[in-house]
Amino acid sequence: MSNLAKVPLFTGLRRLFYAVSVNETAFKDVEEVPKYIDESSPFFFVCIFLEIFVSLIKQDKKLRLADGATSISAGMYSRIPMVVLRSVHLVSYMWVYDNYRLAELPWDSAWTWWLCFLGVDLGYYWFHRLAHEVNFMWAAHQVHHSSEDYNLSTALRQSVLQTYTSWIFYLPLALFIPPSVFMVHNELNILYQFWIHTQYIKSLGPLEYILNTPSHHRVHHGRNPYCIDKNYAGTLIIWDRIFGTFQAEDEEVVYGLTHPIATYGPNTIQFGYSQYMLDRFWNIGGLWNKLCVIFCGPGWSPGKPRTGDIEDIPKVKAPWPKYEVKLPSWVNIYAAIHFTITLVMFQELGARKSGLSQTMVLSCLLYIGFSLTCFGKIFDNKSSAAYYEVIRCFLTLLGDVMLCSLGYYGNPGYRPKFIYFFQGFFAFSFALWALICFKMHDSKVKKSQ
Ligand SMILES: [Zn+2]
Ligand SMILES: [Zn+2]
Repeated sequence: MSNLAKVPLFTGLRRLFYAVSVNETAFKDVEEVPKYIDESSPFFFVCIFLEIFVSLIKQDKKLRLADGATSISAGMYSRIPMVVLRSVHLVSYMWVYDNYRLAELPWDSAWTWWLCFLGVDLGYYWFHRLAHEVNFMWAAHQVHHSSEDYNLSTALRQSVLQTYTSWIFYLPLALFIPPSVFMVHNELNILYQFWIHTQYIKSLGPLEYILNTPSHHRVHHGRNPYCIDKNYAGTLIIWDRIFGTFQAEDEEVVYGLTHPIATYGPNTIQFGYSQYMLDRFWNIGGLWNKLCVIFCGPGWSPGKPRTGDIEDIPKVKAPWPKYEVKLPSWVNIYAAIHFTITLVMFQELGARKSGLSQTMVLSCLLYIGFSLTCFGKIFDNKSSAAYYEVIRCFLTLLGDVMLCSLGYYGNPGYRPKFIYFFQGFFAFSFALWALICFKMHDSKVKKSQ
């Protein structure tokens, strides 16, 4: 939570709406540019708690624990490579700028700032459009559309692969705009798209003509035929109006993929479609068809138009049944507490990574990745969840002993008092799941007799 102290509340909230001045976001060097997205995570949760509060008051069930946690889990998953690697966007952009720039616009000019704002937003529009129209790019982007709910947590449901398909769309800007200006807009453009993921803001009046709004983006997340391949905008909806992909909100939107994946498993959400696409690639006959599987739209099949046939989209009408797994209340409470602890651990790791060895950072990331897999199994109510939880709780206790001896909490061997409380909690959780495993094993043996 150290990020919260770093940025004043009002500044953090303003950044979420792109409400910043040119002066406060103009930097000479890339190293000076704040990590706007990383620094915003506490503000994401402030807004998410506010939305949960509104939902509880209204009792409209627009938020579900398993779906929301899975979205946040995908958000963590997508940030894992960025803990150890430099941004692909920045590396590619700087390479073009350093070697091929045609002009060098001043970094502190308001003209450069506004030009870059428009350029990044236009680049985002075309990236996003092709992410829906080109299958291998869709394989990454579909993660963001895999939630059947639509709320602020859905904004965090991001793909770990997407950054490797989007960087190329911004390179034309590197011919004349300094990297520091690009990095500011690259981050703020993504940040702006957080708050529009809500059903509680109906219309923004005249702003609907210019800005991408909750109403426009709801359409983008819809699986009703009228919503398909519409409203690709990042910040300004004008691009959709110019390029003919705009659609105003009409009948109530049913959210999610046209063919829902029906799982909370993070690995299936991230990589399941890539696997499906590769299977199709190998199984379809003819080189042309194989190329079409990769480069045409996800709805393409032999004899169909490049982006598929709208008649093939299943007809849906709200309210539409969603993927739902009934879990005992104690499991939901257990999962919510443990998931929150993992989230805080991930935040801590991001904040403290520079003071840690590479091996320790990688071990912590593997642990976080494994934990997210465990939560997916719990929410999907898989029988293997109990075994996974025994291992996860044991690894947490073991990890704590190692961190303590390596001096993570201060001097080697020292551990703050509150950590003892967590130790006790994980030891209790370990014993609980071990007992459930024994019981499951017992009943299996009895059944086989
Ligand atoms: Zn999209
Ligand atoms: Zn979205």
